[in-house]
Amino acid sequence: MDKQRDFVLRTIEEREVKFIRLWFTDVVGTLKSVAIAPAEVEGAFAEGLGFDGSAIEGMTRRYESDLLAVPDPSTFQLLPWRGDVHPTARMFCDVTTPDGEPAMSDPRNVLKRTLAKAASQGYSFYTHPEIEFYLLKSAEFGDAGPVPVDSAGYFDNVPGGTAHDFRRSSVRMLEDLGISVEFSHHEAGPGQNEIDLRYADALTTADNIMTFRTVIKEVAIEQGVYATFMPKPLTDQPGSGMHTHLSLFEGDTNAFYEAGAEYQLSQTGRQFIAGLLRHAHEIAAVTNQFVNSYKRLWGDDEAPSYVTWGHNNRSALVRVPLYKPDKGGSARVEYRAIDSAANPYLAYALLLAAGLKGIEEGYELPPEAENNVWELSDAERRALGYSPLPASLDHALEYMESSELVAETLGEQVFSYVLANKRREWREYRSQVTRYELTQNLGIL
Ligand code: GLN
Ligand code: MG
Ligand code: MG
Ligand code: MG
Repeated sequence: MDKQRDFVLRTIEEREVKFIRLWFTDVVGTLKSVAIAPAEVEGAFAEGLGFDGSAIEGMTRRYESDLLAVPDPSTFQLLPWRGDVHPTARMFCDVTTPDGEPAMSDPRNVLKRTLAKAASQGYSFYTHPEIEFYLLKSAEFGDAGPVPVDSAGYFDNVPGGTAHDFRRSSVRMLEDLGISVEFSHHEAGPGQNEIDLRYADALTTADNIMTFRTVIKEVAIEQGVYATFMPKPLTDQPGSGMHTHLSLFEGDTNAFYEAGAEYQLSQTGRQFIAGLLRHAHEIAAVTNQFVNSYKRLWGDDEAPSYVTWGHNNRSALVRVPLYKPDKGGSARVEYRAIDSAANPYLAYALLLAAGLKGIEEGYELPPEAENNVWELSDAERRALGYSPLPASLDHALEYMESSELVAETLGEQVFSYVLANKRREWREYRSQVTRYELTQNLGIL
């Protein structure tokens, strides 16, 4: 018996764990959970736990619906919010077909495949997300829209406020779950907060993001508020991004670092950024997967609207942060389009694939954007070659549809499912007559 499995079985016994939740993620990024009794865990390791894949978004075609969830023992954790009365633990699962093959439609598998491809070229991929979200009084809203829990702003210290207690409880809970938090602060919008996770390999980060979302929702319930990762819940306030810092390592060496180069950025780093820029339009329907995502990627508030890179330029899509030259290991690039509602497995797979493509094909990095991209005129931006990111989900889907990179990385099944699912969302949205149209037009026309 494998050591990790052994450890899990022993811990379940010693801690008198009553329920073990098996977690996996559907194609749109919703966490799925099935609880099993301690006696079933050994069997789940050996054979997986059967479920009806056709009932899960994007998992199977209806005629081949039997799937298995096989728990990954390295992800075993006790869940702090279930208390000591009925100790509960969780493990993330890989989804397989009945004959044990990885299910092509499992987002975790999409990321694993892409990481394996990077590994075959000698690279491991690390990510560090800055996760933004809003705390609202409730999920209910009236004519004035959702109501945030406070009216504080960026880095504000709100003594006695909800946000402060909230972040303290969440950070403690995340640490209990083995997820290290680098820092947390109030963000620019009222009720908006940010928590940054310490960098880890991309699979661990993606698992951690799924756990994070659950923790944040649980702590919010405990404190009588509502937490949302919706990309743009308030019309006149900033949206919630999930800027992610990316780095490639070759063994112990940061492949983006080159002492003495401009910004200490290696040729590999430059080509990786060039890949991100070249494919940004194609991957947008995954990094920004909702109609609402595109309301954030517009008009400043430090969310990017144009495909540019820059050295410490917060109007750019890709930012190369400053770091101390003796800290070569922390060389990284920040991708700023991705939002807090993305499926992290699929989005990280595509960011990696786009960067690797840049390296494989030796893409040339265009000149950096030195100015505030939003302050330029359209003509100036055109002259400088700063192309706009897709302005709507519909626009992003058009790019994705003809993308070889996205089709290849997601695999045929996930690719066609995302397209079909998102086209449906767009069709529903475009059929709506909005409040905007009624206020603008009804009294006049
Ligand atoms: N909220 C901004 C976004 O949506 C980011 C603000 C910041 O962290 N500088 O991307
Ligand atoms: Mg930040
Ligand atoms: Mg932020
Ligand atoms: Mg940032």
